Amino acid sequence: QISLSGIHKSFGSTEVLKGVSLDIEAGEFVTLVGPSGCGKSTLLRILAGLDSADTGDVRIQAQSVTQTRAADRNLAMVFQSYALYPHLSVAENMMTPLKMRELGWAGRLPIVGPLVARRACRDIHARVEAVAETLKITPLLARKPGQLSGGQRQRVALGRAMVRDPVAFLMDEPLSNLDAALRVHMRAELSELHRRLNATFVYVTHDQAEALTMSDRMAVMMQGEILQVGPPDEIYHNPASLAVARFIGSPA
Ligand code: ATP
Ligand code: MG
Repeated sequence: QISLSGIHKSFGSTEVLKGVSLDIEAGEFVTLVGPSGCGKSTLLRILAGLDSADTGDVRIQAQSVTQTRAADRNLAMVFQSYALYPHLSVAENMMTPLKMRELGWAGRLPIVGPLVARRACRDIHARVEAVAETLKITPLLARKPGQLSGGQRQRVALGRAMVRDPVAFLMDEPLSNLDAALRVHMRAELSELHRRLNATFVYVTHDQAEALTMSDRMAVMMQGEILQVGPPDEIYHNPASLAVARFIGSPA
């Protein structure tokens, strides 16, 4: 469903991605795991369309999107910092991406505009309420981000991503701002959410334990290359190289 092939990227004279290829199936939970600076975020940003590769191809549902903008890829990026609007309520935060999409052009038409807008708004409210229900954040909808805990904020950020019904969720260390206990709790919640939504998750982390416990398949990345891709227990028990074994902490 998502296919990255031969992705190269340099910043100045430093080659950060050295020809990375990865295929991701619909509904899979894939983690990109590797040490700090190996190029995980850069690869995810290229997939999201927030940055462009020097060479290589990005395909989504068999279409090349290499030349398309982030907004046209219908992928949801969930960042490490939640990037919620502090002055808007939780409900308004969750509506913003839908409003921008639905009201973008139609809302500006003189006579039809207000009618379209009113119908779109009803649909948007219904969608936000349904997503809030799924994430168990209905009681928080009227609050501002500043009145939420870290885990609640994380859930709102996820909710904002979910309302658009994206092709895939791209997450870059979404739990790294949380304390250890909450992180473990949110891991379980994300796995459960993945099962329930049947959606494609691409999850970036430098935490081996997180990758081993959450993923259907993990891609181990080092210095701009993917060294091994496979299910966690295969990588743990049959690491392809000493570097992978060391990083994953496989038994010697
Ligand atoms: P971490 O686990 O610390 O988040 P990462 O695997 O996500 O690391 P990247 O953020 O992809 O790593 O960075 C890979 C390399 O590219 C690093 O050496 C980084 O300094 C460099 N880099 C990333 N973005 C830029 C940029 N905009 N300009 C120059 N160098 C960059
Ligand atoms: Mg990163």
